[in-house]
Parts: sequence; C-alpha cells; structure tokens
Amino acid sequence: MKIQLTQDIAMPAVGFGTYLIDNKQAEVSVTQALKAGYRHIDTAEGYQNEAGVGRAIRATGISRGDLFVTTKLWPGNPAWGHPVKDRAATFAALDQSLERLGVDYVDLYLIHAPFAGPQRLEQWEALIALREQGKVRAIGVSNFAQDHIEEIRAAGLSLPDANQIELHPWCQNPELTSYLAKEGISAIAYSSLVPLAEWRTAEGHDSAKSDEMRQDGAKTDSPIKGLASKHGVAEAQILLRWGLQKGYGILPKSTNADRIRQNIDLFSFELDTGDMKHLADMNRGGGVAWASGDPTQQG
Ligand code: NAP
Repeated sequence: MKIQLTQDIAMPAVGFGTYLIDNKQAEVSVTQALKAGYRHIDTAEGYQNEAGVGRAIRATGISRGDLFVTTKLWPGNPAWGHPVKDRAATFAALDQSLERLGVDYVDLYLIHAPFAGPQRLEQWEALIALREQGKVRAIGVSNFAQDHIEEIRAAGLSLPDANQIELHPWCQNPELTSYLAKEGISAIAYSSLVPLAEWRTAEGHDSAKSDEMRQDGAKTDSPIKGLASKHGVAEAQILLRWGLQKGYGILPKSTNADRIRQNIDLFSFELDTGDMKHLADMNRGGGVAWASGDPTQQG
C-alpha cells in the first residue's frame, strides 16, 4: 500500500520508526524490519542512529530504488539552548545525514519541528534548494500547525509534500488533518501506539502521557481491546489499521522481532464503519509523545 506524496513519488504507507533506538540496535532492528517486508524507514538527525540505520540498509541487498528513507533536519531550538540552523547549516546537516546513512539522497527530508521561529522560512527555502539539487526527492515538515504552513504560502513558496504529526484515536487533530487534506499535504502519523498500556514502558516513559491515560490503556474493558478481540488481532494492529484507513502513513517502532512482524501484518482484516465511528469518538485532544508538550503548539 502506497501514499502518493507527489505525482511522481509514492511512499510505502507502513514505515519503520526508529526513535529511541541507538545505532547498534538500529542496525539489528532495521535489518529485521527489512526482512519482515518494510521498505520505508523513518529516522532523524536528532535520533542519533542514522549510522546504524545506514549499515542495515546497505547490507540488505535491496536496491536503493526499492527503499524509501526519511530523515529530518534538527532545526535548533532557542528555548533549549540549541542554535537555530541557517541556510548553510541546513545544507551541512543534510550532507552529514547522507554521509552517516551512506546514501546519495533521501526520499523525504523533513524539518523536525517549527522551533526555528523567524528562521523557519530560511530553512524551508534551503529544503527547496536541496530538492532542486537532487539530494532529497520530497520535502516536508513535522509538527507544523496550520499557521506555520500558511507562513510558507504567504512567502510564495511551494507547500510541503507531507506533515508528520502525532495521530492516534486519542489525538485525532481533526482541524489540522482536514486542512492538510484540503491542501494536498500528506499526513504521516507518528506514535500511533500511544493508547497501548505498554507504550514506551521499556523506554522509561519519555513522554507527556498522563497516569490516567496509562490506566485507561490497561483497562480490560478498553474499546481498543474490544475491537482487537472482535477482529482476532492485537490492539497494536487495530491502532495501526485505523491510521491506514484514515489515509495516513504510519511508522510503528519496535525492537522486538515478533512485534516488528505484527505491526506490518495489517492487511487481512478491515475496520468497518461502526468500528471507525467508535474510534472517532475516542479523541481527547493534543499530542503526548513529546515530554516537552505538543510541539505543534510551540514555535
Ligand atoms: P510507537 O510506534 O507509537 O510505539 C512504540 C512503543 O510501543 C514501544 O514502547 C514499543 O515497544 C511498543 N510496541 C511496538 N509494537 C508493539 C506491539 N505490536 N504490541 C505492543 N507494544 C508494541 O512509538 P513512537 O516511537 O513514539 O512513534 C513511532 C515513530 O514515529 C518513531 O519511532 C519515529 O520514527 C516517529 N516519531 C516522530 C516524531 C516527530 O516528532 N516527528 C515523534 C515521535 C515519533 P517495543 O520496542 O519493546 O516493541
């Protein structure tokens, strides 16, 4: 299943997420993901694992043209004492990402978050230039709110091909997703598995997920558990299938080989209209994946 980012560029709808996986484990887990059939890998300068991801993709024997690789520019963030990258620093960051990944181009390059303030447009212009140079095929943003995208339009620049944002039944962002659909900007869902009781427990709870949400995910009468039992699949598969049926790209992360396989085994069942309505009624509001709060509300 593919998502058409532009007329010429199609992205495999199921990508493998790599946040909170170190270089050594990334090499192992990305290798397992590629064996399981994933052809789209999502990494970032900020994840500090591009070298491990690169070793796995170069070792697979799968031709580069059959793989879809996304990485992200860390824009800087004055609020965290990180200097904002200007045009030259953005070019240098992509060159370093390509070198660590050991590839000549990436399929999708994203600005990780809208944290560059007045320099957001300078970074976006740099991404447009990188696309013209052929170092990146498609360009997009992540964690951008409608206002951040309208800023690009007001400057007369071409709009992003995609916006990667937190999306799952508890965080459906209906206004932003409708806007993206209207503008032809693909929504890519991250942290699809937030409602699971197990989500990021092994990773030490690095997030803003509340104790109440944790308890809700563990309840035996949770609606997601009910749908999993109805369809004879795991709760994770219900959450991921919801994302696909909403038309989003999805990026499940796991370091467990069985779960890596389970998270791409999404095509033998379908959520019906009633199931989708049930899930639509579960929206609670903003994102929780970032410990510092929902980044679409910042910058
Ligand atoms: P996720 O994929 O929503 O969930 C991962 C968590 O769920 C881990 O604790 C994992 O543990 C567990 N898990 C995975 N599959 C499972 C299954 N089948 N059953 C039960 N538990 C399961 O997490 P995420 O890493 O937050 O998001 C996915 C990807 O989106 C990231 O890796 C990254 O590539 C991207 N992302 C982007 C941003 C952004 O700002 N652009 C932010 C967050 C994430 P195990 O590893 O032990 O299986």
